[in-house]
Amino acid sequence: MQSYSLFAPAKINLHLEIIGDRTDGYHELVMIMQSVNLGDIIHLRANGTDEIRLFCQNPQVPLDDTNLAYKAVRLVQEKYPTLSRNYGGIDITIEKNIPVAAGLAGGSSNAAAVLVGLNLMWNLGLTQPELKDLGALLGSDVPFCISGGTAIATGRGEQIEPLPDLKNLWVILAKYSNISVSTGWAYNTYRELFNHEYISNPQEVKQRTHEIHSGNLVKAISKNDYKQIGALLYNDLEKVVLPEYSAVNELIEAFKSKNVLGAMMSGSGPTVFALCDKKEEAETIMEEVKESINDPNLDCWLTQVCPHGIMVNQ
Ligand code: ATP
Repeated sequence: MQSYSLFAPAKINLHLEIIGDRTDGYHELVMIMQSVNLGDIIHLRANGTDEIRLFCQNPQVPLDDTNLAYKAVRLVQEKYPTLSRNYGGIDITIEKNIPVAAGLAGGSSNAAAVLVGLNLMWNLGLTQPELKDLGALLGSDVPFCISGGTAIATGRGEQIEPLPDLKNLWVILAKYSNISVSTGWAYNTYRELFNHEYISNPQEVKQRTHEIHSGNLVKAISKNDYKQIGALLYNDLEKVVLPEYSAVNELIEAFKSKNVLGAMMSGSGPTVFALCDKKEEAETIMEEVKESINDPNLDCWLTQVCPHGIMVNQ
């Protein structure tokens, strides 16, 4: 087939813990990741040229070789030159629904969609583990974005182990359009302030990873115990982002003052998410928080947990 459309969901982190430093310059992380139904649509089409051309309605998205979707094509061309040579250039149209630079892995999800799409379009015959290995070369969140759902991510975030799917949980996403947080800044500041707490002994890293894996949040996920999940949300990066961005902190507090199961910052922020088990309640809370904050820069979305990663649209 000459063209494919793929759904590329955003993610939130239910748990983000920074364990220590790695020799490759990244952080050793343990994260519990969750896909949500808010996603981009990626259209791939052979364009009969040798070029990779990008199109996106959102002016915040770069349309050059810095775009992760572009990088994904280049990576496949480099790794599989003989197979990809037959197919020539490609047009990538990104229907951007995921807020940009928001801690929701929008770029990573786009790259994941390109890898899954090219595997089909160019008959590469790669397995999902092989696609994830390729994805890890583009970014730590890309392997998770490929398979999605609910999963625990370790290493620098690229090692993925699925957890039982969460079902029917409503997720309010809220983001100030005039605030963005650099992921690099958040992790570097965390290192400056908290590296004295880092674990470096590989045995202890393993032990901490195991504790989280067999801990209460994973148990609550297995039982679909929403109340516990809401109570156990955890994100180390809040310790550096919230003191710097008081509006994000106030937004979390605004949600917590309502009848939500829990509210927290996603990834390095600045997006805040709140969990609710009933749709009507979630809608009401979203409106109430919007009204109480009363800032035209605050955007909110109501979405649901999503049991899958990249999906090919028929
Ligand atoms: P993560 O949660 O993985 O750190 P994020 O959600 O914080 O990611 P992205 O939406 O991926 O952030 O965007 C971060 C930056 O990446 C943007 O400012 C943009 O310049 C660049 N970028 C590159 N490719 C894309 C893409 N396909 N979609 C959005 N941003 C992209």
